[in-house]
Amino acid sequence: MAWSKSIVYWRDDEGNVNVSVPFTWMLPVAHKLCRWNRDAGLNVLAGGPAVDLMPHYLADVADCGGQMWPLPLSRHNPDATFTTRGCIRSCPFCAVPKIEGDLRELKDWIPAPVVCDNNLLAASKAHFDNVIDRLKVFKGVDFNQGLDVRLLNDHHIERLQELRLPILRFAWDNISLESVVIGAIRRVLVAGFPKSRVRCYVMFGYDDTPADALYRATTLKDMGIRPFLQRYQPLDALKKNQYIASDWTAEEMSRFGRYWCRQNWLSKIPYPEFVNDRKLYQQK
Ligand code: SF4
Repeated sequence: MAWSKSIVYWRDDEGNVNVSVPFTWMLPVAHKLCRWNRDAGLNVLAGGPAVDLMPHYLADVADCGGQMWPLPLSRHNPDATFTTRGCIRSCPFCAVPKIEGDLRELKDWIPAPVVCDNNLLAASKAHFDNVIDRLKVFKGVDFNQGLDVRLLNDHHIERLQELRLPILRFAWDNISLESVVIGAIRRVLVAGFPKSRVRCYVMFGYDDTPADALYRATTLKDMGIRPFLQRYQPLDALKKNQYIASDWTAEEMSRFGRYWCRQNWLSKIPYPEFVNDRKLYQQK
């Protein structure tokens, strides 16, 4: 399941150069790439989430917004698929409502082991059941965008157990969701999913404080659940990791992300100790 999270580009059967850009901070490099190809006399088509979010950025060097073929997802990961697009929610930090709109169930989706739906649990029971039925043929299935804890019900849990799921992913983006997140995790553990296979995304640096983010990550860690920290990036960021939330400093954001990304080495060292040990912080 090789996943390319960089810019992907290819020549199609008609000789067009297709450029797919997943993140906005890759747009400056994508602009150079498109310009080189256009200067070489080639027709350039650009797309992907970053182009959908900032359609004007590449407009002088590529045709943006048209259909690329094959579809970019298969170029980023041939094992990936979508069964729905969009989402029922409109979280202000998320690109999905802006570029995909409301949730819609796809009728002609192709079964594949990596399911990139933004909010599969928001789909109808009939669609969800159809997805589970068609994914049972795979040796391992990954719902890689996480499952919405607010929608998880007993039927979902029961049917998820029919799949071979190496990892079950949730998200805890806001402290206000504590009881819902912890409740959902407890329910899947009681149902028999081992702790080692449950992960939880923890966004930090949006509308939280360092203490709030530390509480969420530490609470999960203390439960034996591996938190997967994700630093917030504005939807129009042309450089990664530049945004500093109002209750954070640049150093705190960088240090916090660094600590949680290095849990293989640092899991035995509490965060306050890591912060106070300058040498340790600089070494790692
Ligand atoms: S629920 Fe998830 S996919 Fe939907 S808008 Fe919120 S963050 Fe985005």
